[in-house]
Amino acid sequence: MHEMGIVNSVLDAVRAEAGRFPGGHICKVGLRVGELAGVAPEAMSFCFEALVRGSEFEPLELEIEYCPRRHRCAACGKLFGATADGAECPDCGAGGARFAGGDELEIAYWEVEDGASAGRT
Ligand SMILES: [Zn+2]
Repeated sequence: MHEMGIVNSVLDAVRAEAGRFPGGHICKVGLRVGELAGVAPEAMSFCFEALVRGSEFEPLELEIEYCPRRHRCAACGKLFGATADGAECPDCGAGGARFAGGDELEIAYWEVEDGASAGRT
């Protein structure tokens, strides 16, 4: 299951990032996962929970932002979901839309809780 390796590298990044926030800790990490990234979000969540439970990272949460495959119309610039390159634009009907996303696999954001602002909602 290669999700385990990905989750491990996310946790490595969290550990590295945590060093920048002395006195605080990262409580949530947002991950952008594209439809074409070849990763199952449910498997990611499962691995994440398994690795975080009982570790130094607890209580770290994972939020997955799922990004469907999309294309951009070369004529009008509209973004739309399509299954192949060169799809027709639903707005202007032009063909030749270019691939414009859906293979993301990256950290989108961190949420840091620091000692000073603890208790704030
Ligand atoms: Zn168009």
